[in-house]
Amino acid sequence: MNKLAERMVTLSNKVCLLNAQQLQQLISYYAQAKITRNAAGVVFAAKLPDTAITVYQSGKVLFQGSGALREAARWDTGELVENKNTSNRKGDTLPPHLDQLSVIGSDETGTGDFFGPVTVAACYVSAEQIELVRELGVKDSKQLTDAWMRKVAPDLKATLTHSVLTVTNEKYNEIQARGWSQGKIKALLHNQAIKHVLRKMGNEQPDYILIDQFAERTVYFNHLKSEQEIIRQHVLFSTKAENLHVAVAAASIIARVAFLEEMDRLSLVAGQPLPKGAGPKVDEVAAHILLTKGEAALQSMTKKHFANTKKAQRLADKKRSKK
Ligand code: MG
Repeated sequence: MNKLAERMVTLSNKVCLLNAQQLQQLISYYAQAKITRNAAGVVFAAKLPDTAITVYQSGKVLFQGSGALREAARWDTGELVENKNTSNRKGDTLPPHLDQLSVIGSDETGTGDFFGPVTVAACYVSAEQIELVRELGVKDSKQLTDAWMRKVAPDLKATLTHSVLTVTNEKYNEIQARGWSQGKIKALLHNQAIKHVLRKMGNEQPDYILIDQFAERTVYFNHLKSEQEIIRQHVLFSTKAENLHVAVAAASIIARVAFLEEMDRLSLVAGQPLPKGAGPKVDEVAAHILLTKGEAALQSMTKKHFANTKKAQRLADKKRSKK
C-alpha cells in the first residue's frame, strides 16, 4: 500500500445515529474493549486494535480508524437513514438507502421573512456525485452559517444541474393580492424548478424527486391542478428532507444564497441592512423605511400581507407624532 492510500484508510471515519435499544446493544457488544474518556457529551468509548468507538449523548456514534467502516457496518442498517436527525419527521414512507440514490431535491426559503423574496431551488445529485457533494461540506443548511453558504453555493451551482427561482416582493405582492396562498406559490415554484432540472438532465432520470415537505401530498397537487405540466412520478415528500439526501441540502443552500443576494440588493435600496424574520427588529427597520423612503418603497421590499406592515405603520405614526 502506498503512503497516501495508507493515510486515507487510517483517517477513515463514520458517524451513525442509533436509537436507545441499538445503543444498548452496541455498548454491551464492545464492553470488553471499553476505555475511559472524560470528554463532554461522551457516554461510552471503546478501543479496538484498529478502531476507536465513541458514543455521544445525542445517540451519535463515531467510528474512527482503519476498521471504522467495517465496525460501523455492524450497526448502520437501512433504517438508520430514516432515523438520522429525523425521528420526528413527517411524510412519505421512504425507500431504503434513499441517501445513496440519484435524487432531485428541492427546498424553499424566505417564506417567514417580512423583508425579501421567496426563493426555491431544485438540484440533481446523481449517486456518483453524492461523495463529491459531501466533500464540499454539504450538510443540513440549518447547521450552516450564511457566510459559509455563500462560499459553498458557487461550487454547487457549477457542479450540479439545478434551477433556482426568485419571486421578488413586487411579484409576490401582486399574486398574493390575487388570492394565491403561500402554499400555492410554493407548490408552483417547486414544480417549476423541478421541471427545469428534468429538462436540463435530458435523457438522464432521477431515481426519486424529494421535496422538503411544506404541505400534505394531496394539498400540494391540488395547488397544481390548473398547471399544464405536473411532475408527479417518483415524487416523495418529507419534512427535514435536507437530512435525508444531499440533493435537498444542496438545494436548500442554493435557495438560501439566492435569498441572501436579493436581500443584499434590497438593503442597498433601503440604505441599511435589512433584518431577517418577522420580529420586533423588523418592525423597527420597516418603520424607519416608511419614514425615510415612503410606503411604496417599503412595499417593494416586503411581503405586504404580513402583520409587520400594520405594526410598522403604528410605529411610524408614533414617531411622527413625537416630532
Ligand atoms: Mg424547507
